[in-house]
Amino acid sequence: MFEQVKLSVDMNGLEPHIDQLTMETHYGKHHAAYTKTFNELAQKAGVDNLPVEEVLRTLDKISDETLRKGLRNQGGGYYNHNLYFSTLSANPEKAPTGRLKEEIDKTFGSLEAVIDQLSKAAAGQFGSGWSFLSADKAGNLYVTASPNQDNPFSEGTDRTPILALDVWEHAYYLKYKNLRADYIKAFWEVLDWKVVTENYEKVIG
Ligand code: MN
Repeated sequence: MFEQVKLSVDMNGLEPHIDQLTMETHYGKHHAAYTKTFNELAQKAGVDNLPVEEVLRTLDKISDETLRKGLRNQGGGYYNHNLYFSTLSANPEKAPTGRLKEEIDKTFGSLEAVIDQLSKAAAGQFGSGWSFLSADKAGNLYVTASPNQDNPFSEGTDRTPILALDVWEHAYYLKYKNLRADYIKAFWEVLDWKVVTENYEKVIG
């Protein structure tokens, strides 16, 4: 059984950056629906015993096209939102530490620079999608954007996302309407770099 990640905050805990109605809809409806449907499809495909990362990495093995597409979209939606919601906090740490801080400085020059790249990737994603900060096992970092519910696993890379910025309209439209850039700015106010740092450490071992 694939479980929806538990929120570390109440539905109104991220106000005013992310509003209560958006949280109730996004987490309580959209993410819940991805989770439910992914569970049903994974069971149908006989992959419900695998980690979600493995399901998304090995979609090629699913011969039925409808089922494969369904797992890509619903499994990606399940995974991406678990990552997104797990990194949001009412009292976030505003900077990474340790090896993640060092690698960000080495790769991008500064925290501000990687935030800028992720923001631009998110703002420039045409239609629905995400921007990701990902790492490979050697510790290298990558900023990318993906359409729909795709992610570095379903795109066949050996990278693991450690930060996910959702730019589907359902993530911001109730409060920010067409102003995606304002939502992206607000996202950084509640993004907890402590969790992102922990995610990085898990990837590099
Ligand atoms: Mn979403």
